[in-house]
Order: sequence, then C-alpha cells, then structure tokens
Amino acid sequence: GQCAAHCPVGAIYERDDTVKVWSALQNPDVHPVVQIAPAVRVALAEEFGLPPGTVFTKKIYAALRRLGFKTVFDTNFSADLTIMEEGTELVKRLTTKGSDIPLITSCCPAWVDYMEKYYADMIPNFSTAKSPQQMMGAMIKAYWAEKAGVDPNKIYSVSVMPCTAKKWESHRNDDMKSAGHGFDVDIVITTRELARMIKQAGIEILKLDDEEADSPMGPYTGAGTIFGVTGGVMEAAVRSAYFLVTKKELGDVNFLPARGLDGVKEAEVDFGNGTKIKIAIAHQMGNIEAVLNKIRDARDAGKETPYHFVEVMACRGGCIGGGGQPYGCTDEVRKLRTEGIYKDDTQSKLRCSHQNPFITQVYKEFLGEPNGHKAHELLHTKYVELPLYTR
Ligand code: SF4
Repeated sequence: GQCAAHCPVGAIYERDDTVKVWSALQNPDVHPVVQIAPAVRVALAEEFGLPPGTVFTKKIYAALRRLGFKTVFDTNFSADLTIMEEGTELVKRLTTKGSDIPLITSCCPAWVDYMEKYYADMIPNFSTAKSPQQMMGAMIKAYWAEKAGVDPNKIYSVSVMPCTAKKWESHRNDDMKSAGHGFDVDIVITTRELARMIKQAGIEILKLDDEEADSPMGPYTGAGTIFGVTGGVMEAAVRSAYFLVTKKELGDVNFLPARGLDGVKEAEVDFGNGTKIKIAIAHQMGNIEAVLNKIRDARDAGKETPYHFVEVMACRGGCIGGGGQPYGCTDEVRKLRTEGIYKDDTQSKLRCSHQNPFITQVYKEFLGEPNGHKAHELLHTKYVELPLYTR
C-alpha cells in the first residue's frame, strides 16, 4: 500500500475506490451500510492534525452518518464474533484427539495469500474462521437486513480498513458471497480514503458531537478493539478460551506476554485445570516464517509441536501499522496508536468477547451455537493450495 507513496518514478498509483462509494451514497435506491475496523479509530485523527493514538471512534461514527451512511456498524463487534468462533474451534481442537495443532489465526489476508502459496502444507492448521470484516459483511446481508426490513439486494456494504489487502479479501472466493446477495462486503476503503472523503465533503469532524454505532452490531468489548494490534487476537482469544475451558471468568484479563513490538512473542497459558497451552505471536513476514518453519520442522521430524495456538499478522505492530493507514508510520507512531488501542480496551466496561450481550443476542436469535451449522455457512471459509504468480 505504501509503495504508491514511495515509488520514485510515480509508476505505481494508489488504488482509489472513493468514487464508487460516492455514487452509492448518492443513489436513493441503495441502502449504504458501513463498518470500521479496530485500527482505524486510533489513526484517522492524524489526518486532521491530532496526534497518533487519539481514540476517535464516536466522531468517526458521526462523520460516516454525515457522509450519508444509513447504518453504521463496528468491525469490533464482529471481532468479538470471531473470538467466539475461533475460541470454540481452539477448544475443540485441544480436546479432540488427532486434531491439527497448532491452530493458526486467519484474519490477516496478506498472510492468507502467502500461506496458500508458500505454506499450503499447513492448511489443516489454519483457522477456518473468517476475518471480522467478512463476518460482519455476511451478518449484515444475512441477518440484519431481514431484522431491519431492508432488501438485502439494495444494501451496499462498505468497510473502512487500515489495510489494502482487505480489498482483495472481500472478493477472495465464493465464500465471500455467503449471504447470497453478491459479495458480502461490496467495497473496502482504507483509513486514508475515508479521510479524503471527509475532507472532500467539507465535514469538520473535530466539531461533530459524539455519536454511537447502530445496534445490535455496533457495541463491542475491549477484546474486540485489541484485534488492531499484534498480540491482540491472542489476548482476546485467551480471555474467552479461559472461560470456555473452565466456565469461570478470568481474574486479571490483561495478558501482558502478548503485548509489545518484539517480532516473536512466546508464552504458556495455564488454564488452572490441568490444561496448559503454548502460544506464539509473530508479526512481519520474516518472523512469521521463523515460527512456521519451527512448527514444520517439528512435524516433519515426528516431534511434539512447539505451539498450540499461533497468531500471525503481516504488518509490523499489527493492523495499526497497516498499508492503508495515514502515511509516515514509524515505531514511535506504532507505539502511540497501540496505546490508543489499549486505552479503548481498558475504558470498555466489558473486556471479554463472550460477555458482549449483543453477541449473545445474535447467537440466540439467529446463529445458534458457535461453530454450529449456520455459523459454518456464514462465518467460516476454506483455503486451497495456490501456484505462485496467479494473482
Ligand atoms: Fe492488513 Fe496488515 Fe492487518 Fe494483515 S496485519 S490485516 S495486512 S493491516
């Protein structure tokens, strides 16, 4: 994504999808719905002169409504949903003999593409859970449309992401059309593209009053918001897996070994009932390769796996350092955006995904059980080995 800014001869142009979004917003026959990713809320403010890490969520909701979005949801909600699906998948694999261990996270599309090309032998280890973006897309057209009495064919589903690879993910394969009304997410714009739209519309975002997202797929827990940083998916999963395994709430939900900018973080999680698992967190491709090679080598030598659960993110620092974020990302900027994310987490009343009452509601009203039939149809995907140079 940042190549466009760095290309010395200007031969690479940044993809801009704002024109398509503008025309949907101006079409009276369309019902535009939007979701914003965890990392967007701690970076967008930079485009309006505020320091990195400023938590800007409620002003972003307000600005999205001024742009013309009729319904504003939050990807943090579907990050909570991802934890329910992936946490359940983890617990199942840990408790079912012969399962493929480690479980490896799948919410980073840059990594999905890489894995299908270079680590296809590890496809069975890969979580089948879709990313929060895709879960939200499926839920908007399959669940919310009916609930709200909106024709799903008229919905134009936009997501605002810190990531250029998410544009590709939204059209990855037919699993991304799971609700049966075209692609579940019609178009993806980056944090930079949203900033451009707000400026083009002349919206003075700093002067807007705070607004809330729409229910039921707006309210989120602290676990949903930390998806935006390296280690966040792991920490969120540990918070809920502990509950799923022991049926007890975790005392201190802060899982500090998952935090920080070290390229590879390792820890052991003790559930206190005899279950202990080894985890690893890797961000940036080189670090990911090191962890995966360790797993592959152990497997090929017939040795015990070094890990049970592995989180991988292609960008340094996780999505807060994504290719769609405001330019000029240094480690200093990453640290400030990360602080913003943890601030959003600690300020949340609820900090574990399974505690989100709206998550309980969507399972009760619509999805059934985590990893159940309907959840599999809408919230999970599959992977295939790909030859190099096909995309
Ligand atoms: Fe996108 Fe980077 Fe986040 Fe992966 S880590 S989802 S490439 S922003």
